[in-house]
Parts: sequence; structure tokens; C-alpha cells
Amino acid sequence: MTLPYPTTYYAQSLSESRARPMLRGVEEADVIVVGGGLAGLVTALELARGGLKPLVLEAQAVGWGASGRNGGIVSPAFACGSEDITARVGVEAARALHRLTIEGVDRVRGYIRDLGITGADPISGLLNLRRFDRADDLHAYAAEFAQDFGYELTYLDRAAIRERLVSDRYFHGLADAQAFHIHPLNYLRGLAAELERLGGRIYEGSPATQAQFKAATKVVTTAQGEARAPRVVFATGGYTDGLVPRLKRAVLPIATYMMVSEVAPDLIASAIRTREAVLDDRRASDYYRVIEGGNRLLWGGRITTRAASAAGVAQELRREMIGAFPQLAGLKTELSWSGQMGYARHLMPQVGLMEPDTWHITAFGGHGLNTTAVAGKVLAESILGESDRLAMFAGFGLDWAGGPLGLAVAQATYWKLQVQDWWRER
Ligand SMILES: Cc1cc2nc3c(=O)[nH]c(=O)nc-3n(C[C@H](O)[C@H](O)[C@H](O)COP(=O)(O)OP(=O)(O)OC[C@H]3O[C@@H](n4cnc5c(N)ncnc54)[C@H](O)[C@@H]3O)c2cc1C
Repeated sequence: MTLPYPTTYYAQSLSESRARPMLRGVEEADVIVVGGGLAGLVTALELARGGLKPLVLEAQAVGWGASGRNGGIVSPAFACGSEDITARVGVEAARALHRLTIEGVDRVRGYIRDLGITGADPISGLLNLRRFDRADDLHAYAAEFAQDFGYELTYLDRAAIRERLVSDRYFHGLADAQAFHIHPLNYLRGLAAELERLGGRIYEGSPATQAQFKAATKVVTTAQGEARAPRVVFATGGYTDGLVPRLKRAVLPIATYMMVSEVAPDLIASAIRTREAVLDDRRASDYYRVIEGGNRLLWGGRITTRAASAAGVAQELRREMIGAFPQLAGLKTELSWSGQMGYARHLMPQVGLMEPDTWHITAFGGHGLNTTAVAGKVLAESILGESDRLAMFAGFGLDWAGGPLGLAVAQATYWKLQVQDWWRER
């Protein structure tokens, strides 16, 4: 049986490709998790580690959504900027939340190391680069990080950047040696295998079509089966459908894009001489990294609120790439794809209790690798009665995201940010 993944670089470079069965008949479990992305799988894995028997329902295949298609960059922070978080919950709570995101980075590294996940290929280093000439605030930012979090960021001047990247685009930067990048789909499949080893069950090709969660026994129905449990978790990310109308109203699906180059190690090395991932400082940033030991270049960026052709958007990504590295004009794009991120109106993850014994864990936006790793753990701790850390997310509820108007506002905001980026780079 072939897995129903979209054609992405990651699906083409799986370290294993075992398909899982569809749910048929009635199955009982300790907890049902709807959605087999990282949010759902980390939660289920941590529940299994705590002694429960979870059952995961995935509409397609595990990691079919954003979790299996993303840029693979694992770094601290949320999709929401720290100033906005502080404005909502205050300085101390915002710092505590940021510490969680650092824990998330460590947790991803720990999962890969401790479970020996094959093909996740973690590679250290992230360069956050600035496209305009101002550095004083970068120094202040690095000093604040060192003081508040004991987290080291190293300032890079133009010459230090030029040693790594043969480009005139960047003026200043901060190198983060604790961040790293991975093959996200192999990472996720490693978590799924561990969940099963601990007695969790995963059903693929099993979209949940109905969910009854008002009674003590929660019942989730699929085309050919029914799952029953005393607890249920919804983890459907940017693919949240009408299964739980309240969740759908709270999550905006935003598409973003990636492309991968042909194999061309010498050409790529004429531009990029580092294995570190790169993220520019645009509000709608471009990010890239070399993979397969320098053989290929993976490049991501752009968002749209309406599904656009990935091949069409790849032309825009190519323009960006060639703008930064004119020497890569002849580098062919082999494949491009898109994926949907879930965004709440407040841009923070939504993790909490919706109804008695019914939880949601969603809206990780464009910063989901570290945040799903820690939010899944925090949610599992709450379900297992082990901690009250879930309260840290209480300030970020299931606010109505605005429906089609919310999408229009998101698109307009993105365009505005693009103009602002252009203006400050002038
Ligand atoms: C192109 C791209 C690049 C990105 N780059 C990065 C990056 O470099 N670093 C980073 O930290 N983050 C990045 N992100 C964000 C990150 O991938 C997401 O935030 C994270 O994967 C979200 O995980 P999730 O489990 O919430 O959602 P998903 O991975 O989307 O999982 C949701 C799952 O729910 C399933 N589902 C939905 N409805 C149902 C239903 N009714 N029944 C059963 N199953 C259902 C879907 O099939 C899907 O598999 C990127 C995202 C994209 C799209």
C-alpha cells in the first residue's frame, strides 16, 4: 500500500514507509486523539509514557499535514512575537512561555537522540540574518537573551556572514548554535513508531466525521468505524474541518511554500558554505538550508490565504533566491509544495480544555516543531494530573478567528508587512 503523502522531498526520502490500517468496527481506548501531526502524536506519546492507551485517528497518513512538509528548523519562540505575548500576559508570564519554547527545542533533540530516530538527521546551527544596516538592537537582544534565559546568541558582522554565505544581501546577524534542523517527516514517523511500541494505536485513512463529546464516553466516528474513550483530544492543525465547529471558527488556515533544488553540490557551494540553516529578518521571512551534505538546497517562504499553485509561488521563491545569490540562477528547482499552517487570531497556540475531558491542541502557525514538542508534553501532563503547566496557555483561548474576513485581514496584514520590509531595506 502506498502512503497518501503529497509529493514532497520528505515523502521521497523516508527512512521507512510502513502504512497503518484504517479504523474498522468499534475500538475502545483510554484517550482518542484526532489528528496525526506532531501536536497529536507528541500528546499521544506522552500519554502512553504516562501509562494510558491512546488511539490516534489520522485522516490521511501520519505527518501528512504541516508536520511532514515543513522547513525542519527547530528553534525557540512562538509564531507570535514576544512583544505581543507580553502585551497580553505580562512580562513574567511571557518569559515563562519563552522558556517553554526553549524546552521544546531540547525535547525535539532529546526525542531524536533517545529514540535513535533514523533519518531525522539533526544538524546544528541557525543564522538569523538582517537585510538592512542596523545592529544596536541586535546586540541588546542577544544580551537580553543571555540574561533572561541563559541562551547564547552570537553576533555576526558582514565579514563573518560572508564567510558562510557568498551574498551581498545581509548586513548583520545572530548565530544560534542551540537551534538545529531536521528531516521533519522521519522525526515524526519515529515518534509514531515509539507510540505504537508503548501500546498506542494509530489508524490512518480514517478521517473523523463525527465527534460526540458531551457524555462521559466520547465517541468519534469514521467511515467504517467508531472509537470510544473517556477522553478526547483534537489536534487537527491547519486542516481543522467542521468536525468541531468551535475549533474551526478559531483557526485560520494559512498556506506556505517550499521548494527543493536539483543535486548540484558545487553550484550550491559557490553560494552557501555553511550547514547552518538561514532565516532572514523579514516579517514574512525566507528560510533555507542545504541538505544531503550539501547536495541540494531547500528553500521556503511566502504565505497565501487562498490555495495557490506551489509551482507558481516557487517562481517567486526563486526570484528571492537569485536576488540573494545571483550565482544560483542556473540552479534548477526539482520540486515545490505547499502546506497549511493553523493560526489563531492571537497568533499563539491554542492548548486547553474545551469541555470536560475534551481538549484541543492546535494553531502552532509557522513555529510548530519546538512548540508541538513542549505543548504536547504539557497537555499530557495535565491529562495525567502531573502538572498545572497547561494554565500557561490560558490567556490564548479559542477566540473567533474572523472567518473569511479574518483571512482577508491576514492577507492584507501580510501585504502590509511586505511593503514595510521593502521600505526598511531601502
Ligand atoms: C511549508 C511549511 C514550513 C514550515 N516550516 C517550519 C519550520 O521550519 N519550523 C517550525 O518550527 N515550524 C514550521 N512550520 C510549522 C509547523 O509545521 C506546524 O506548526 C506544525 O507541524 C503543526 O502541527 P499540527 O500537528 O498542529 O498540524 P498538522 O501537522 O497539520 O497535523 C494535523 C493533522 O490532522 C489531520 N486531520 C485533520 N482533520 C482530521 C479529521 N477530521 N480526522 C482525522 N485527522 C484529521 C490532518 O490530516 C493532519 O495530518 C511550517 C509549516 C509549513 C506548512
